[in-house]
Amino acid sequence: MRVAVFPASFDPITCGHVDIATRASQLFDRLIVAVYAHPKKDVMFSLEERLAMVRESLETLEQVEVKSFEGLVVNFCRKEGAGVLVRGLRAVADFQYEFQQASLNRKMLPGLEVICMFASMEYGFLSSSIIKEIAQNGGDVSSMVPAPVARRLVDHFSFVSPPLASGG
Ligand code: ADP
Repeated sequence: MRVAVFPASFDPITCGHVDIATRASQLFDRLIVAVYAHPKKDVMFSLEERLAMVRESLETLEQVEVKSFEGLVVNFCRKEGAGVLVRGLRAVADFQYEFQQASLNRKMLPGLEVICMFASMEYGFLSSSIIKEIAQNGGDVSSMVPAPVARRLVDHFSFVSPPLASGG
């Protein structure tokens, strides 16, 4: 059985991530979409919220399973019996980081294969941080993220936005 892991923080999942997960799921018997429990960078959504958004966004993909993980992704791959790590490549800028990570992960887990899939043209400019910035400033992100994410972004920013100044 060919098992692959697609790891990310998914803070939040975007249409770019969904595209990679959809295409990768067609290449493997099982694709585990793995949500970093405690990424190094600050996250906007809790692990539970990120997991829920990923699950709701990918629920139609049969071969896909959504799990969270902590620590090194190679240890998670070992535990799950996954021989392939899937990543996405948007621009040249992604290459250096992905190449470094792939080399280190393959050193830690010999035999692991890392597959980088090119972003689709329409999503190559998307990142979770850009989505958050647009949403925070009232922009419409509904074509850039799955519906469950768009809903939560609206809720999040209407909840945190400061109250309108009362007259006077
Ligand atoms: P992390 O927080 O784990 O760094 P990212 O979203 O930055 O999460 O990246 C996770 C993986 O998803 C990376 O391989 C990245 O290149 C890929 N990725 C992110 N956005 C897109 C996109 N729009 N299209 C294709 N791949 C993407």
